[in-house]
Amino acid sequence: MTQANAPTEFAPRTRKVRVLATLGPASNTPEMIATLFQAGADAFRVNMSHGDQQSKVAVIQAIRGLERQFGRPTTILADLQGPKLRVGRFAEGRVELVTGNVFTLDRSPEPGDATRVELPHREIFAAIEPGARLLLDDGKLVLRVTDHDETKIVTTIEVGGMLSNNKGLNVPDVVVPMAALTEKDRSDLAFAVEQGVDWIALSFVQRPEDLMEARRLIGGKAALLAKIEKPAAIERLEEIVEQCDGVMVARGDLGVELPPEQVPPLQKRIVEVSRRMGRPVVVATQMLESMIQSPSPTRAEVSDVATAIYDGADAIMLSAESAAGAWPIESVTMMNAIGNAVERDPGHGDRVHFTVMKPDPTTADALAEAAKNIARTVSAAAIICFTSSGSTARRIARERPAVPILVLTPQLETARRLGLLWGTHAVHTRDVESFEEMVAKSKRMALRHGIAKAGEQVVVMAGVPFRTPGSTNVIHVTRIVGDELKNYD
Ligand code: ATP
Ligand code: MG
Ligand code: MG
Repeated sequence: MTQANAPTEFAPRTRKVRVLATLGPASNTPEMIATLFQAGADAFRVNMSHGDQQSKVAVIQAIRGLERQFGRPTTILADLQGPKLRVGRFAEGRVELVTGNVFTLDRSPEPGDATRVELPHREIFAAIEPGARLLLDDGKLVLRVTDHDETKIVTTIEVGGMLSNNKGLNVPDVVVPMAALTEKDRSDLAFAVEQGVDWIALSFVQRPEDLMEARRLIGGKAALLAKIEKPAAIERLEEIVEQCDGVMVARGDLGVELPPEQVPPLQKRIVEVSRRMGRPVVVATQMLESMIQSPSPTRAEVSDVATAIYDGADAIMLSAESAAGAWPIESVTMMNAIGNAVERDPGHGDRVHFTVMKPDPTTADALAEAAKNIARTVSAAAIICFTSSGSTARRIARERPAVPILVLTPQLETARRLGLLWGTHAVHTRDVESFEEMVAKSKRMALRHGIAKAGEQVVVMAGVPFRTPGSTNVIHVTRIVGDELKNYD
């Protein structure tokens, strides 16, 4: 049956790990965004580092447009650049730096070439020292400082390669004093809040205080994600995770600030701490890097993605692969395929539970753990929860149950934010007023969203009295009997 405004059909998602796709010049159009969504992108990242605010308005609108088209909530993460050093622009967009040649960074806004480029950060000209390394583009290119003054830094190119506009620059050998939120970040944050994005990511977090300042500016209008990419953040990891709503293992800068071999153990630790504390955690950067140019990934990249999924990360991210590469659709399709294959592996559940979760001594956690156990014991098809803030959903997801979690919420903002949370299928719907209504609605929604079939059991979690946030205190097991009332809300 086709209705005039019926949502476009698409294959139901059974995958638990979420796929976060960065948008950019290769994927900014409404058509591409819809195609990426259908291919498996659960959430979209808009990087405020590239392009101006005005260029993001249409992108954000296009993502929200999916809600009408597909009848599903969408999730938007705005990523603030933070105090990241970046080179300026080149007359040709990109240049080749030849190993052994001299390359100068200066204060002139003139477009650059193969001998010089602007470095629009005054602080660094005073702080830099001869002999220090400058690492470009997540460490792919290396420059060695030979000379400097207030207006220029002269370097020798130790490792050459292609360099394009606004690539990042790291100075691991000297401390550059920079504020956690730059003027640009404050402006981008206000813009992101005004645009109604669901998540705001803060880059180069070093201290829990950095997050408190951002949270104050966000004023509850979006969730806050901490990008872990500085050694200082590792030293206070628990405190930082406590202060945020979500975490990103930002391996690009982390692997430049620290030797790359230290990144895998840290990735495991950050994922584990985040999971323990019930914060969704995203593993990011270079996951399918070769797919920027090639339609198929290396085996090692596939294995890297699989490892993050076996470690129980909530989400895996595409950066340049979907933002600026030649194969954005194939990259999302590949992430989707890896997710499905790993989760079909009978060993997946055991590996995910390698991180042992002890419930916090709260009613919410006791119920979440019980719901997982009941679902397993009675072979239920799903856990269904009613939540306003999403907190109940986070506590259930933290348990990493074997079955899908259907989340029913009257808050559209909550449904949208849950797009980064493992194993959840969020539905924005009216609240229920009675126990009978709760049970009937659970079954109806489970059927409608393909979460359970007639004859199967589901575990329902809710709070009584209804409409009282924070009151989750009921677990109810029920069997879906017939073709329950599919047609009304
Ligand atoms: P971050 O440190 O925040 O990850 P990044 O520069 O690595 O910043 P990504 O979003 O990870 O940026 O994307 C990787 C690359 O893709 C960028 O370095 C850039 O070359 C390209 N890119 C991404 N988004 C855009 C955009 N909107 N406009 C132009 N280029 C983009
Ligand atoms: Mg980064
Ligand atoms: Mg990046």
